[in-house]
Amino acid sequence: MALVLVVEDEVDLNNLIRDQLHAAGHEVEQAFDGRGALAKVEKEAPDLVILDWMLPDLDGLAVCRRLRENHLMPIIMLTARTDEIDRVLGLEVGADDYVPKPFSMRELLARTRAALRRVALDSQRGEGGLAAGPAPITHGPLRVDPGSHEVSLEGQPLALTPKEYELILLFASYPGRAFSRDFLLERLWTDDYEGLDRTVDTHVRRLRRKLGHVGEQIVTVWGVGYRFVP
Ligand code: CA
Repeated sequence: MALVLVVEDEVDLNNLIRDQLHAAGHEVEQAFDGRGALAKVEKEAPDLVILDWMLPDLDGLAVCRRLRENHLMPIIMLTARTDEIDRVLGLEVGADDYVPKPFSMRELLARTRAALRRVALDSQRGEGGLAAGPAPITHGPLRVDPGSHEVSLEGQPLALTPKEYELILLFASYPGRAFSRDFLLERLWTDDYEGLDRTVDTHVRRLRRKLGHVGEQIVTVWGVGYRFVP
C-alpha cells in the first residue's frame, strides 16, 4: 500500500481523511499548513499528496507549484472553487486531479485509488519493472518503448538523441502535465555543466521537428515550459 500525505488545516477533516485512508490500508502523514507540507514531502517522499487549496500560510496552489519543481508524485487537490479548476489541473499548477468540496469520502478514496494505479503502471514501465519488461507507451501514431529505448511514428523508427528520447519518454508518460524548464533541466541535465533554459528549448524544438505532426502536441505553456497533449 501507499504512503499518502494529507494537507488540510481543518484538523477534524484532516483526521477523518487519515482514518479513511488507514482503513483502506494506506500509511498516512499529515500536514496542517503549506510550509509543513513542503517539509513533509522532502522528509517522507509520499507516493501521493492530497492537498487542500485553502491553507493558512502558503495556499494549495503555491504548494503544488513548488512541489512540481522537483516531484512527480500524483497530487489531488481539494477545492470549493470549481471556477478555477482549469488552472489547477496541469497547465499552471500541475495537479493531477481535483475533488470538489464538499466531497464524499468514497469519492476521495476512489480518486486516490485511481491515481495510485496510474503510478503503479508508470513504475512498471520504469526500471526494475515487470519481468516481461516495461510496457510500451502509445499515443496515436507515437510509440515509445522504454524496454528497447525505441521511438516510432506510424511504425517508422525515429533517430533520437538520448536527451530527446528522455524528453519524449517523460512527456508520453505524463500526458497533459506541464513541466517547467527548471524541472526538465534538473531532471535531464543533472550531470551537464550547461544548465540554461534555452538548452531545453533547443532540444524540444529538435524533438518537435523529428515528431512531425505529433510534434505539435508538445505545447508551450507560457511562462512555464511544456506539456504533451496527445
Ligand atoms: Ca482548508
